[in-house]
Formats: sequence, structure tokens, C-alpha cells
Amino acid sequence: MKEWIKNNKHVFILYIVVFILVAALVASVIVINNKSCENEKNVTKISNLTSQNIKKDEETKKVQSDLDAAKKENENLKKQNEELKKQNIELTAKKKAAAEAAKRAKQKATTVSTKKNVSPPPATNPPAATHTCYLTFDDGPSSSTTPQILNTLKAKGVKATFFVVGTGNLSLLNRMKNEGHAIGLHANVHDYGRIYQNVNTYLADLQAVSDKVYNITGIRSQIIRFPGGSSNTVSRKYCKGIMTQLSKLMPSKGYSYFDWNVSSGDAEGASVQGEINNVLRYANGNDICVLMHDIKPRTVSALPTIIDKLRAKGYKFEVLTPTTRGFHHGINN
Ligand SMILES: [Zn+2]
Repeated sequence: MKEWIKNNKHVFILYIVVFILVAALVASVIVINNKSCENEKNVTKISNLTSQNIKKDEETKKVQSDLDAAKKENENLKKQNEELKKQNIELTAKKKAAAEAAKRAKQKATTVSTKKNVSPPPATNPPAATHTCYLTFDDGPSSSTTPQILNTLKAKGVKATFFVVGTGNLSLLNRMKNEGHAIGLHANVHDYGRIYQNVNTYLADLQAVSDKVYNITGIRSQIIRFPGGSSNTVSRKYCKGIMTQLSKLMPSKGYSYFDWNVSSGDAEGASVQGEINNVLRYANGNDICVLMHDIKPRTVSALPTIIDKLRAKGYKFEVLTPTTRGFHHGINN
């Protein structure tokens, strides 16, 4: 062998070189193969991971959609809750209203039974009323304004006294009578120059209106108001001393005459507020006899407030009767 190597030195070296090359080649193939295996493994790993990721994504999506559904349900529940709250509030309000209505009905029933049991004083007058107001209306009835006055009086539960004239719309007399008002006599024809010529002309005029009232209502009125009042001075122009004579004569003729101690000023053209102020100014705890005219539209407007304010001041309302005392002016003729 040694001999052969010695002789074939070059061939031997060539073999060695070839061997080394082949060995290197084999080694590199093995290394590459290994790496390829590793790569394949890694690819599989990555593929696995990817599929895991996809699965996780799907799970996440599912959880998300579940969460969304839960949110929606929550919102629906919230809405339902709000609706129920509203319904609850409405029901509470209805319940409260019903309770109040029942309470009012009960109070009304109590008031009605009280009204039935307690005698006269009109229910519309407050129990504390300590002064009396006699509302009086002259120069009517008027077909346009008197019905409105009567409506107000009816609505407020107030009785008043009407000193009527024979030239008025006497068809309203029965309504006055039926609604509890007093009918007094003022004049048949409201003409100072005619009625105050002398005592007889006055008495004849008074008799004429008295008969008209009697024929319509069956009432022979015993209460009167002189045109211009007993204190008038206009009569002096026609007959000196006639008011002195008449004021003394009338009681013997069966009449009681009435002047006033408060005037609304409606005959002098007072405004609605002016009328209210004029009446209230003199209503201070004394009994009052208020002069107004049911032919005046402003009196129609002022009357409701006048009644309310007088009530608030403790006044009750009554009608004049032949036995009512007072309300006489001083005589000036
Ligand atoms: Zn008059």
C-alpha cells in the first residue's frame, strides 16, 4: 500500500481531494435537507398559528356580536323601563286627580247638605258679612242692559231693588219679581217739569206707574224714589217747597221713600273703574244704599266687580222694604 501511494502520489491526492469534495457535498446536502425540514415545520407551525388566529378571530367576532345583541336588548329594556315609568307617572296623576275630584264632590255634598240644614242667609254671602248693602237701580227696565244686570245678580246670588219708570220695558218686571228682587216706583214719565208742577201732578204720575206695575206683577209697590232724590233742587224751578210737602205726605199715602248714601256716578258719566272706585270709597263698614242705573252699559260692566269687592269688605245684599230704615237726604226744596 505504502508502495502504491509512493508510486501514485498524485492519484492518491486526487482521491483525497475527490473524497473531501464528495464529503463536503454530502454534508451540505444534509444541512440543506435539515433546514428544509425545519422550514417545513415552521410553515406548518405558522399555518397552525394562522388557523388558530382565524378561529380566535371568529370567536372574537362571535363574542362581539353577542355583546352587540346584549347591548340592543339592554337598550330595549331601558326603553321599556322608561315607558313603564311614564305609565306609572300618568297613573299616579290620574289617581291624584280622581282623589281630588272625589274630595271636591265630598266637599260639595257637605256644602249642599249644610245649605239644606241652615236657614236663610244666601250661600253666596260669606258668613262673616256684618254690613248690609242695598243695590238700587233707577230709570229702567231697559231691554238691552237690564237683562244683563239681572244675569249678573243671578250669577252672584244677589237681590237688588229696581225703581222703575212707566216708559221702560215693563215685560222684565216679572223676571225681577220671580228672581227675588224688589220693585219700587220712580216715575211714570221721568220729566221733572211735568211731575213737579205741584203735589197732584206728582201723585198722578206716581199712581200711573204704580198701576202699570200692579197690572203686570200683581204687586202694589210701597217703596218709591223721587226723581232726583228728596234732596233735589231742580223741582224748585217748578214748585217751591214741593219736596218738603211730598216727603211729609208720602208715609200717609202708604209709601216709604228712599234716597242713597253711595252713588256709582253712572248718571254723571263715570268710567267702569270710576264706578267701582266711587262705590268702594264710601263702603267702609256702614250700611249702604247704592244708587246706580240699569240703563247704563258701564254699570253692566262694573257690577260684577262691585259685588265681589263689597263681599270681600264684609257686605251682604238685601232688598229695600217699606220697613227698611234710613237713607233719607236732607230736603233742599
Ligand atoms: Zn231717575
